[in-house]
Amino acid sequence: MTVSQVCSFVKPSLTGITLEEAVDFLEKRGAPSYRARQVTHWIYKKRVASFDAMTDLPNELRAELAAEFDSPKMEIVRLLGSKDTTQKFLFRLRDENLIESVLIPASPALYGQPSDRRTICVSSQVGCAYGCKFCASGLEGFARNLDAAEMVRQIIEIEKFCGEKIDNVVFMGMGEPLANLKNLLRAIGIINAPWGLGIGARHITVSTSGLAPQIRELANEPTQFRLALSLHGATDEVRGQIMPVNRKYPLKVLLEACDYYVAKKGRMTFEYILIAGVNDTDEQALELAKIARRLSAKINLIPYNTVEGLEWSRPSRERQQKFQSILRKHGVVATLRREKGHDIAAACGQLRLQTMGTVGKSDIEHVAIGNRARRRQRS
Ligand code: SAH
Ligand code: SF4
Repeated sequence: MTVSQVCSFVKPSLTGITLEEAVDFLEKRGAPSYRARQVTHWIYKKRVASFDAMTDLPNELRAELAAEFDSPKMEIVRLLGSKDTTQKFLFRLRDENLIESVLIPASPALYGQPSDRRTICVSSQVGCAYGCKFCASGLEGFARNLDAAEMVRQIIEIEKFCGEKIDNVVFMGMGEPLANLKNLLRAIGIINAPWGLGIGARHITVSTSGLAPQIRELANEPTQFRLALSLHGATDEVRGQIMPVNRKYPLKVLLEACDYYVAKKGRMTFEYILIAGVNDTDEQALELAKIARRLSAKINLIPYNTVEGLEWSRPSRERQQKFQSILRKHGVVATLRREKGHDIAAACGQLRLQTMGTVGKSDIEHVAIGNRARRRQRS
């Protein structure tokens, strides 16, 4: 029997229940509807892991809920980083698959938030099918979609572990969120809802490698979360060299979908990783400025994070700054991220790749980042 067959038999998870479903479930059993709010309060506010702990519900109702829903195992098997810097969590799922999430304690250069905020970078799939040439997540291919409960659980488990509230959620971990759109929208609904995790839609960002049809779909989605487009190349020639998705949705098609999105939703952000000798030329900066002006988009420039086994590297600091200055000279708002976590394999998919086959049992490993790395992060 395959893993996907096993998964298709399992009960739906506790952390994927919406208030509407709880109301529906209880109504069908003749229970008063106020019980539904009690159930979501236990799951999303008190964060209990079993129905037995829901002490203000009648025993019979608890048994009925337990028969219908599950609270599957989702353990933290590795933790890299230290409390005051970026922390990276590796989770083992119910079917032994591994996913990772990153906690970034203060993010002044990310999305313009104040610097005392905690951002969590959430995975949406196990692996990724899109195979961008620079990315660790794509290296081992695609295993499966995460369900909404598994996306929400990453936030709940990390908040429980750290004892601190998460302020921002970015879907920039492993996987292509728009290739798992139904589950993504369900997870965002729970993360955003007042009865759920209560994180404002403007503090939720979804990043995509550029699935044009789904970008159009999102334009018609009422929730006001933010969209970030991973551009990484300003011409088909350069983008196509590093992102196979560009063959399916070349820039003309992609940018028309973005025009539609921006007309409906107001704005989107671009991410542009800087890779030495690939996409960091003055010509690319000029083309990028044109695209950004067309869409009134702000650009986050991200120096490439080296991935073991891949040939790419980041440009010199001077080249990064020159690239940024060209954009600014052409009237584009561009930030250059002094990215965190370089020393703990913080680019998506790297920790999983290093760990696959090496984690046999649950052993949480704290690896403090060395002083040298800390100095670099502070400077
Ligand atoms: N699949 C989505 C979201 C996950 S990747 C997407 O591609 O947008 C999140 C971001 O991390 C993307 O912008 C991606 O290009 C970037 N990324 C991947 N590998 C990286 C690396 N080694 N260094 C820096 N950024 C990287
Ligand atoms: Fe997938 Fe995004 Fe990595 Fe590309 S960058 S392989 S789309 S996770």
